[in-house]
Amino acid sequence: MRSLPTLLRLATSRAATRTMATGGSAVDTLIFDVDDTLYPVSSGFSKHRNGPIVAKFMVDELGFETEAEALELRDEVFRATHSTLKGLTLASQEGRLPKPFAEPMLGEYWAAHCDFDAYLPRNNEFRDQLGELRELGYKLVVFSNAPRKYARRCLDSLGLREFFCDEFIFGVEDVMPACKPEAAAFRTVLDAVGADAESSIMFEDSLKNIRACRALGMRCVFIEEEVGGEAALLGDAAQKGDADLYEVKIRRIADLKGAAPWLWEKS
Ligand SMILES: [Mg+2]
Repeated sequence: MRSLPTLLRLATSRAATRTMATGGSAVDTLIFDVDDTLYPVSSGFSKHRNGPIVAKFMVDELGFETEAEALELRDEVFRATHSTLKGLTLASQEGRLPKPFAEPMLGEYWAAHCDFDAYLPRNNEFRDQLGELRELGYKLVVFSNAPRKYARRCLDSLGLREFFCDEFIFGVEDVMPACKPEAAAFRTVLDAVGADAESSIMFEDSLKNIRACRALGMRCVFIEEEVGGEAALLGDAAQKGDADLYEVKIRRIADLKGAAPWLWEKS
C-alpha cells in the first residue's frame, strides 16, 4: 500500500499534469448545455420536444397543413443551423413559413406545452453536487442553443434553477445571429460572465460544440449516454482524436463527482 505522502504527491502531480496539458489556468467557471446534457437522452424529452410538440407548434402557430410537413422543414433547418429558434427565424425571413415567426413564440410554446413533469424529474443527486460546486466558488453558467425561457423551465423541472442567477442563463437569442458551435457564440457568453476561455469548462453532449470550445482554449466534459438525441440528428459522430479534446466523458451529469473529483479540489 502506498503511504499518504506518496498518494498526495501522486495526486498533486496528476493535477499539475492536467493543468499543464490544458493551458495552465485554474478552472473558475462551469458552463452547462441543457438538452441531452442536464438530462439524459433516454428520458425521451428531446424526442418529445422535437417531435410532436414542435410539429403542433408549427401547425397551430405557423400555419403548416400537416405535422409531417412541419417536421420535415424543422429537421432541415435544425441540421443547417443547430438551433430550432435560429432555423425558424431564417426560414421566416426567407418566406418559407405559411405565417410569420417571431422570436419569442417558440420559447413561449415549449415552456407552455412540453410535459416537463413527465420527462424531467428533479435531479437530487446532481442538485447536491451543484450546491457543493457553488460553495467552492465556481461561477455557474447555462448556455443552450434553445430559447432562454424554455431553458429556464427545464432547470425548474430538474430542480437546478436556484444554482444559476438569471443573468447567467443564456439562450440562443442571447448570442444570435451566432449560435453554438460558432466561436462568436461562446465568446459572447464568456465575455458576459467575465470568464476566460482557459479557465472555463463547457459541459456538452455535442462533439461539434466540444471541438469549437477546445479551439477557443476552453476545457470540456463530454456527456454521452448513448448514440442518439440531437447530436445524432446533426450527424455529430465521433472523429479520430476527439477523446483528446475533453477532460473526461460521463454517461450522466450526476456521474460528474465520481469521474472528476479534481473539480472538488478547488483552492
Ligand atoms: Mg445538447
